[in-house]
Amino acid sequence: MEVREKAKIVITVASLVAVTVLFVAEYRRRHRKKQTSSSLSSCYLHSELKSQFGFKRVLADNSYSEFKHLKLDDASSSSLEKSSNGHPYETEITVLLENPKIEFGFLRGEYSLELSDSYVWVETELQLKELAEILAKEKGFAVDTEQHSLRSFLGFTALIQISTHEKDFLVDTIALHDAMSILRPVFSDPNICKVFHGADNDVLWLQRDFHIYVVNMFDTAKACEVLSKPQRSLAYLLETVCGVATNKLLQREDWRQRPLSKEMVQYARTDAHYLLYIADSLTAELKQLATEDSSSPNDRFHFLLEASRRSNMTCLQLYMKETEDFPGSAAASSIIYRHLNGHGDNSTVSLNAEELVRKLCAWRDLMARIHDESTRYVLSDQAIVALACKQPTTTEEIYDTIAHTDLATESSPSSSSSVQSPYPVICSHLGDIYEMILEKLAKLDDILPVVLTKCLGTNGTCPISVFNYSLLVNFKTKLSSHSAPKQNGHKNFKQQFTRKASRELFVKKFSCKAPVYHNCRIYANDGRLLCYCDKRKLEWYLNRGLAKLVEENPPAIMLLFEPKGRPEDEGNDFYIQTKRNICVGCGEGKHYLRYRIIPSCYRVHFPEHLKSHRSHDIVLLCVDCHEVAHAAAERYKKKIATEFGIPLFVRRVLDSKEAQGTSSLVEDESTGNSEDAGVSPLHLRSAAMALLRHGNRMPSSRREELLQTVKMYYGGRDISEEDLEKALLIGLSPHERRKLERKKGVSVKHSAEVAGIDKQEDENNDGEAPTDSEKIMNVERSTVADDSGDGTSEGDGATELNDTQCNGNMLHQQNSKLSLLGHGPHGKQIVEYLLREHGEDGVRDFCQRWRKVFVDAVHPRHLPGGWNVSHSGRRDFGEFSVYNPTKRLSTE
Ligand code: AMP
Ligand code: ZN
Ligand code: MN
Repeated sequence: MEVREKAKIVITVASLVAVTVLFVAEYRRRHRKKQTSSSLSSCYLHSELKSQFGFKRVLADNSYSEFKHLKLDDASSSSLEKSSNGHPYETEITVLLENPKIEFGFLRGEYSLELSDSYVWVETELQLKELAEILAKEKGFAVDTEQHSLRSFLGFTALIQISTHEKDFLVDTIALHDAMSILRPVFSDPNICKVFHGADNDVLWLQRDFHIYVVNMFDTAKACEVLSKPQRSLAYLLETVCGVATNKLLQREDWRQRPLSKEMVQYARTDAHYLLYIADSLTAELKQLATEDSSSPNDRFHFLLEASRRSNMTCLQLYMKETEDFPGSAAASSIIYRHLNGHGDNSTVSLNAEELVRKLCAWRDLMARIHDESTRYVLSDQAIVALACKQPTTTEEIYDTIAHTDLATESSPSSSSSVQSPYPVICSHLGDIYEMILEKLAKLDDILPVVLTKCLGTNGTCPISVFNYSLLVNFKTKLSSHSAPKQNGHKNFKQQFTRKASRELFVKKFSCKAPVYHNCRIYANDGRLLCYCDKRKLEWYLNRGLAKLVEENPPAIMLLFEPKGRPEDEGNDFYIQTKRNICVGCGEGKHYLRYRIIPSCYRVHFPEHLKSHRSHDIVLLCVDCHEVAHAAAERYKKKIATEFGIPLFVRRVLDSKEAQGTSSLVEDESTGNSEDAGVSPLHLRSAAMALLRHGNRMPSSRREELLQTVKMYYGGRDISEEDLEKALLIGLSPHERRKLERKKGVSVKHSAEVAGIDKQEDENNDGEAPTDSEKIMNVERSTVADDSGDGTSEGDGATELNDTQCNGNMLHQQNSKLSLLGHGPHGKQIVEYLLREHGEDGVRDFCQRWRKVFVDAVHPRHLPGGWNVSHSGRRDFGEFSVYNPTKRLSTE
């Protein structure tokens, strides 16, 4: 009986399988190869670099949490509105719907309908900024986007085409993914009309990837609708209005590829180039229709207004992630309905098959999220049906079932793709399916935690990415609504997970993206090697006619002036060593970040000429050695603090002149009896924060204690909510304040924070340290940038101080650039003390101490030759040196 039922179901797929019988042998061979590699359980992503893995900020990740829309720091909107997740430009768009701005004539002056030979490929931030400036001056511009969806869970924008009446721009949104906010203002400017064709998806994609919101749109497809054109496709308009033929097949190309083929460039430009012309032509028709159709002059623009209204309605749409009761459940229901019903009269066989479909769909959904692939790239619907019906019992059979089914149904997602089913996810994780079929993973609810642990747990098989790292955070809530998991196990798992996640993300975000050392050479005019350096430094000399290029690859220059001394003469051959792009501690070459041996809270206060030999005191370290070095440095800072009697943190602040809004610092030492006046800025801040966040939920005793801390700052008087808000800002540097302002309104418990990474970071502060060349040439924009670099600088917020601000019992001015929460004031006082008591030698000795701390902590085995603890710090080529302070202006 059971066998017969089973046979009946199998028949539904048997016909497909039969077609491919001839391929069995071939697949067997392929399979055997794959099997051995998959048994090592190493995920394919370890050896495949997908373009989206270069994105640092991802607004829509693959977790089950809802998409967060842009929040504008708009003083006029109430806090209630701010907490909602609505359309940030709803008001502006509504205004447009009520009082449409209708653009008559998108084209002015001369316009050639033909595609010119040239277009602008936009791939750098600078080019993007230039584009934004050009667009800001336009009355309107045309837009289209191309997406990639096969190798991505939610899809991403791979290209944006923008055409003005003069030029076609192709914006490489893969290279510029993290910088696209530059275009936000022109897209949301109600005075600039954006012309699209069929914008329904484009507006959502722009929100999803870049938080770009379109305000004021003319959609030529909507115009076709209003005009009741026989067709609404762009191809139709191109042909009838412009006489241009297109090949829409190119729409399905892989838009990630670079460079784009000639045909793809042509196709992409065509999609946007003619839109302004088409829009002009359709608005004319709409006006014409109005004059013919209406007797009343009030109705003159009726049709045009209707087209505009429908276009702007599109802009009100909001991107949302799809949600389901249980991962994969929608797909499972659909598959069961389409493929299994009609066979199963509740027999155990069909119930089994259904259950397996649900498991496979849940697994597929999770695997797609973990690997950032589309579900169809993980496993096709047909393959799921075949597996559920056949229930193959060996990994070999599983592999063959998938291969045959996909081959027979031509479900290959991309015909041009050389990769064939089964796709890499299956090949790397075949064992999971085996376990699901063999009922080792018996319950649906078990699949998710087991798979997550296996893939992303401490010794997980798959890499962590910005797309999958917050999966677990939401996953916990997801599960709790279905079953009651063992709380402890989950907590543990979560901790392990976040530790691994934060380490990997740290590596990703802060490690250097390109080799740091270019190993270019500089020769003296007698042909002796002076140093190795990066390209920027060579260019500096070349551009000023101070050197000539003597070799191309790798480049080398010869100085045209007589440098002061030679490295050998100075008994220092550090500068004539090539430097390797590896961790100087352990030799790790896959990732490294810059480490400053002398903490910036001191270094920024050094006299300029003592700062200039940075290349010696900035070394490359891997994350692990970095952690060791950093911890040792923090410990040593404490020692220094005790030794010099200069505390690491500002001890007390007190709001003395509340009326003028200034606060003063109270130093224990300097003002004898102030022991009980004022409060530590760190304590003040955390107390105020806790009260604002959880004030009404905490036990009253705790609340009173915290209130007492804040009151100490305000001299004991009663305080208001506003005082609490104000206390949050005390001691912050302007940079930190801006960061806080931006964060306000953004949900505090952001999932990114769980992993210890601030995803909503400043656009300009992307965690990249200034390049080595910037350091060598003293062209850092500010010391803030210097500090933000290594990502471990919390508590090391050294910034510049001007001299009046920091001598003994100083007054802290509201506009000070110095953070009172970090080690800035400490660093400044130490360096001042050293210079006062021991002069520059004091600073040099101090540097040697730090080099020793570094060596003792890390035991570096790969320091470049010539590096030593007692390095003198002198190094320049004399009059024309880039280090010469008088030359500094010209490098900026
Ligand atoms: P278009 O609006 O024609 O420029 O299409 C924009 C993007 O939508 C393309 O890059 C494709 O990723 C996607 N797309 C549109 N239509 C299809 C389709 N029929 N099949 C697959 N992808 C499509
Ligand atoms: Zn994997
Ligand atoms: Mn297109």
